[in-house]
Amino acid sequence: MDNKNNTIWDEACKQLKGVLSSDIYDRWIAVIQCLEISENYMRLAVANDFYKDWLEENYFPMIRKAVLIASGKEMDITLTVDSSHFATIKETPEPAPHPSLSLPSIGFGHKKPAHNLNPNYTFDSFVVGDSNQFAHAAAMAAANSPSRTYNPLFLYGGVGLGKTHLMQAIGNHIISKKPKAKICYINCETFTNEYIESLKNNSVSAFRKKYRKIDMLMIDDIQFLDGKAKLQEEFFHTFNILFESHKQIVLTSDRTPSEMAGLAPRLISRFEWGLVTELGKPDVETRTAILRKKAELLNLKVDFELIDYLAERISSNIRSLEGALIRVATYISLTNQHVNIEKIEELLRDLLDKESKAIINVDIIQRTVAEHFELRQSDILGKKRSKDIVWPRQIAMHLSRNMTSQSFPVIGEAFGRNHATILYANDQVSKKAKDDRALQQTLAILKDKVNKNCAKTVQ
Ligand code: ADP
Ligand code: MG
Repeated sequence: MDNKNNTIWDEACKQLKGVLSSDIYDRWIAVIQCLEISENYMRLAVANDFYKDWLEENYFPMIRKAVLIASGKEMDITLTVDSSHFATIKETPEPAPHPSLSLPSIGFGHKKPAHNLNPNYTFDSFVVGDSNQFAHAAAMAAANSPSRTYNPLFLYGGVGLGKTHLMQAIGNHIISKKPKAKICYINCETFTNEYIESLKNNSVSAFRKKYRKIDMLMIDDIQFLDGKAKLQEEFFHTFNILFESHKQIVLTSDRTPSEMAGLAPRLISRFEWGLVTELGKPDVETRTAILRKKAELLNLKVDFELIDYLAERISSNIRSLEGALIRVATYISLTNQHVNIEKIEELLRDLLDKESKAIINVDIIQRTVAEHFELRQSDILGKKRSKDIVWPRQIAMHLSRNMTSQSFPVIGEAFGRNHATILYANDQVSKKAKDDRALQQTLAILKDKVNKNCAKTVQ
């Protein structure tokens, strides 16, 4: 690359340095390499997918803006993963006291921390509200007395609601108290790949040893096991060995154990031995508190009005909420301009679109349930009291309560009933689902169908 090109990227970096805290800059921007640049094109590279995803989600618009300012023109910028240019990271071999972890070291370019957890995911930086209070208390208990309270601790909930954060907070807490504790955080997909590799290389016994000789095992996104019989078998034994030696196990998933239709019953029952607890969608006050905390941690200068607006508009996913904050704050600091609502909406168009996709409406639930039970939506809405209609109707009410953020009265209106009817139906179905496996699976199938139908309507 010639000097002029280097200068454009260097200049863009300077812009970014000026607006980001040095911590953020070092962590996320200094690690990018500019590999190629032509008249209107720039290719940037990072060492792995984790960086790529994070940058794309959070910092890409800001990078684009900085390049625009540096070069004076719109450039087509791509961000690629190209580990061959990141030899320096590879050459810091470690004695590897713990099994390999799925997250890269965050202090990239600096000395790698021994345990490999994201140091930002702590209890201190986790905001507690109604939606996650119980999960938070359980995680604290597991962190303070591992294997003596809830084992396994099973955290479930939708995308971007803090499962990984809370799980890693347990790990970070333990490491802060006992730096030598052998803890392992791994994403289930990485775990799966390692297992497959070990089968290929005839090294299954090394794989087993690695996961069975630790003090705490945290597997993220365990729903990945669903439908993978051989892997489940392998995991079953690892689970038993760790459990019997009183080692803490923490699992996260996007659904409850019993909603994993392809999970062996013996694993379901083990996952339910300890505590299964949900991370729900935070209410607007909690979302506001989370944003204020993020702004403080990231050293972003934004006024409360903007925070309130974002917390109001984006409710389904905290990751998106965070991304929105970073985007708008960066725009403000790069341009020194006051932003109005139209500008914010333009900056956040993709996130707001995603948000409307996430809004599941009662109408779609009614239609999906009706279709599943071979009824018409008018049957669900009607007054007939025959059993084959009342039960699907109650299921539709239960799903409406659990899949949307609507209140009982609002759902009641959509069904032409009062709120007490919805409350009662929701209770009935929840109670029955507790020990009726067939019903649990029907609900899981219906949720899946509702999600698919919602996705279809917004396409
Ligand atoms: P999940 O694993 O459930 O998909 P994450 O744990 O990755 O979600 O959370 C997504 C982002 O939202 C992270 O940056 C995390 O720090 C943030 N986050 C989620 N819940 C909270 C919370 N209660 N307090 C502070 N930050 C949160
Ligand atoms: Mg996660």
